[in-house]
Amino acid sequence: MVAPGSFRDRLKAGLIRTREALSFRVSEAPDWDSLEESLILADVGVPAASEILDRLRASGSVAGLREELVGVLTSLPDRPPRATTPWVTMIVGINGVGKTTTVAKLARLTLARGGSALVVAADTFRAAAQEQLRTWAQRIGVELIEGSSGRDPASVVHDGIQAALARGVNEVLVDTAGRLHTKKPLMDELTKIERVASRVIPGAPHETLLVMDATVGSNGLAQARQFADALNVTGVVLTKMDGTAKGGVVLAIAKELALPVRYVGVGESVDDLLEFSPEDFVDALLAP
Ligand code: GDP
Repeated sequence: MVAPGSFRDRLKAGLIRTREALSFRVSEAPDWDSLEESLILADVGVPAASEILDRLRASGSVAGLREELVGVLTSLPDRPPRATTPWVTMIVGINGVGKTTTVAKLARLTLARGGSALVVAADTFRAAAQEQLRTWAQRIGVELIEGSSGRDPASVVHDGIQAALARGVNEVLVDTAGRLHTKKPLMDELTKIERVASRVIPGAPHETLLVMDATVGSNGLAQARQFADALNVTGVVLTKMDGTAKGGVVLAIAKELALPVRYVGVGESVDDLLEFSPEDFVDALLAP
């Protein structure tokens, strides 16, 4: 289980390389060029870096940096309140970003809070993805709903939500494909899953989390936009924050995609997922 006291330490450890990229001294006289360079190096992105610099320059001091960074991250919609059970969360993103691992980590978080979870393998073409989720489900001790190879993913999701309703399970986590093996566009399949889910429970999926790989940094923004344009994405899970210098991409995601980061992945084990808090993140980023 996650030791709550270690949250800041784990986030700080995960951000070590980003912090090095941001290696200016806030107490020094403003050196706007090196601050801008640091922000860009940390992958904050040009739009967010420019906005932050303009505001700090206007104030004549870098003292407000923390507040400016927090401000970019808190200008976004809040987490939707969990009023419905089962709460259905769809996990989307391209292959290799960490979707399946994130589904397992989220299920684990729900169990740790005393809830119950069920996972759905909606990537019915990739046997390895199903196998991986099956292994995680057994290890964590949650039920897995899967379909035979090539079965319509939306109908597997339908069965998964029905199963959760029948068993009184609190949370349904849907793992989806990151790439299709047919000519059919991926977004068509994902929007079909959205439609079918909402037919079983109006309002479902209640959350759609886009998984992004922090090591790819802002190079992943264009692809992320395709998901955000096609689907009702409510937030981002940023994985692989351990060992990347591009942790500032959290600000680029906020500024350029207008999406809040909800969770950060800080390792490969099932407990390596932290709920995102703008204040804690910025403090860890600016920590000496
Ligand atoms: P998917 O194809 O999107 O489902 O991605 P997977 O869940 O299979 O993950 C791809 C790889 O990334 C695996 O080797 C995972 O262990 C690894 N991974 C996922 N999340 C994290 C993370 O937060 N940190 C690190 N270091 N590795 C991760």
